Amino acid sequence: MSNRTLTIDDPLYEYLLRVSLREPEILWRLRRETGYLDMANMQISPEQGQFMALLVKLLGVRRAIEVGVFTGYSALAVALALPDDGRLLACDVNRDWTDMAQRYWEEAGVAHKIELRLAPAAQTLQSLIAAGASGTFDFAFIDADKVNYPQYYEACLRLVRPGGLIAIDNVLWGGEVINDDKQDEDTVAIRRINAMLREDARVDISLLPIGDGLTLVRRRD
Ligand code: CA
Repeated sequence: MSNRTLTIDDPLYEYLLRVSLREPEILWRLRRETGYLDMANMQISPEQGQFMALLVKLLGVRRAIEVGVFTGYSALAVALALPDDGRLLACDVNRDWTDMAQRYWEEAGVAHKIELRLAPAAQTLQSLIAAGASGTFDFAFIDADKVNYPQYYEACLRLVRPGGLIAIDNVLWGGEVINDDKQDEDTVAIRRINAMLREDARVDISLLPIGDGLTLVRRRD
């Protein structure tokens, strides 16, 4: 027994997956194909995808935003969990990665639920706010360039409704958040957003040590 979060070694992680992972075959294939890419570690873990799908169902999400699509694993997990008239606005700037994503979204029969915006996400989010979409989203997932996390967070906080949820990825950053020798701009930005969230009275938060660290942020009002 333990009253702190366990350190998960490989055999325990394999057990966790074995007794709880219900990964649809298409997500497994997308994960495998992405695994051949140099940037494969940008893909979320399968148990995190399953957790996000559960959140989408628990919250009854109908409108979602994703900042940072990569090859589309998390978007596919979310889209599969959305109702048929649910919509995910997916923001990214990389055409090669999102071409691969779209191939799988089509094959999974969820492409009609996902609108891909190939543009800097900060621009897309600002244009949504300008178009009056504030407070109209139920869920946002932030998993893009870390330097812009504070900016993405502020925009998403306006776009989600009161009671809506923002999930922020990579908040433990491979453990580098506590490595004082690491002062690169990505690591510094992760520390900054974590410190901001701790003090932000507009939201309720919980940092989960799933994947690379995922903070759940609920907008109060
Ligand atoms: Ca990530």
